[in-house]
Amino acid sequence: MDKAKYLIIGNGIAGLAAAREIRAHDENGTIIMISSESTLTYYRVKLTEYMSKEFTDEELLVSKENWYQDKNIKVILRKLVEDIDITNNKVRLDDGQEISYEKLLIATGSRPFIPPINGKYKEGLFALRTLKDLHYIKEYLKSCNDVSLIGGGLLGLEAAWALKELDKKVNIIEFAPYLLPRQLDKEISDKLEKKLSEHGFKIYLSSQAEEILGDGAVTGIRLNGKRKLESEAVLVSSGIRPNLDLVRNTEIEYNRGIIVDKHLKTNIDNIYAAGDVVEIDGMVLGLWTAGNEQGKIAGANMAGKELEYNQPKIFTTLKIGNIELFSAGIIDDFDRVHEYKDDERDIHYKLFTRDNKIVGAILFGDLKEMNTIRNAVISNTSIDEYIKKDSRFK
Ligand SMILES: Cc1cc2nc3c(=O)[nH]c(=O)nc-3n(C[C@H](O)[C@H](O)[C@H](O)COP(=O)(O)OP(=O)(O)OC[C@H]3O[C@@H](n4cnc5c(N)ncnc54)[C@H](O)[C@@H]3O)c2cc1C
Repeated sequence: MDKAKYLIIGNGIAGLAAAREIRAHDENGTIIMISSESTLTYYRVKLTEYMSKEFTDEELLVSKENWYQDKNIKVILRKLVEDIDITNNKVRLDDGQEISYEKLLIATGSRPFIPPINGKYKEGLFALRTLKDLHYIKEYLKSCNDVSLIGGGLLGLEAAWALKELDKKVNIIEFAPYLLPRQLDKEISDKLEKKLSEHGFKIYLSSQAEEILGDGAVTGIRLNGKRKLESEAVLVSSGIRPNLDLVRNTEIEYNRGIIVDKHLKTNIDNIYAAGDVVEIDGMVLGLWTAGNEQGKIAGANMAGKELEYNQPKIFTTLKIGNIELFSAGIIDDFDRVHEYKDDERDIHYKLFTRDNKIVGAILFGDLKEMNTIRNAVISNTSIDEYIKKDSRFK
């Protein structure tokens, strides 16, 4: 049986960040990473952009193969961990191989959520999560003209743009009454919708896909209200679910994700978790930067440090074509809104205040002020102070 001082399940950014950090604090302890995918850690965040680009898998790698050799980190690819034996500190892989550990990190990430839609198993309905998905989707799309996107969130809109760059006609189907309701108010969302429509996207709001049409392969979608859209492929972007299969039959506590403390430790003393698979303060974040930071903290703690993780403030930026927007903080619970508008340049900024302090912001059309405004939201700057420096806001 192979033995690891540090065993990491999953080689996404959380797993890799942990391995890096462990090696920074422990030069010699054996580190083994296991992944069911067939590639070393890659920039998953770039997959959407690469839908419309030529690339080699190598370009997407976060660290090249020789880095793992230099750091003496063993990576086992194309193997699924099927079982964790907490009592005996070992795991079993799908080929029967067992590996024992002193410290274990679960960094199994998440998978796309596909809502229950009739006919969803037809050929041509997919979600983009892995490099393998990307290769399959790119090939499939070569013979498609009309493509529908279920889910008009940030990732969905980025994907819609990539599809447009591939010269596809794109339908965007969104359940909410306006686009990006968590990041935008209705007024700015309407502006976004208008711009997207000008680029040729067909947007269906307050809409739900009820059935995927076609014999075997997708030929269309039936929406609620019985409207039918022609579509040769459907890309689903409706959120994620943590990969919890491994922990379901163990004593490791989980809810929507694996529950960890500030040190990223689970309820089992030598088992940590990080990345999309964890839930902290009731939230599953599903963000690259959070996975990276959590991996670092978990790795350092596994190697004997005592670091704490603090949830980051969440900011959103969307840059597709000539559309730029930024959203930060609280935009739905405020006393006043201070605005700056330049209709000619299609710029619209809003600062949301509570008790005269800036608690949230939306920038549309131009992001030059993004860093200044982000800092104002983080430090809850007084609006009077802010307006003294930038008198454009009314
Ligand atoms: C298309 C796309 C675009 C995105 N864009 C952004 C963005 O712009 N900004 C942002 O912040 N975030 C973005 N994200 C989210 C971001 O990529 C994730 O938050 C991040 O990659 C999660 O990293 P992770 O290490 O937790 O998990 P993952 O990257 O999911 O890695 C987990 C790995 O574990 C493997 N695994 C799972 N179970 C097992 C098992 N039992 N045995 C062995 N291996 C296993 C999986 O195959 C996978 O390789 C995007 C995601 C996608 C899919």
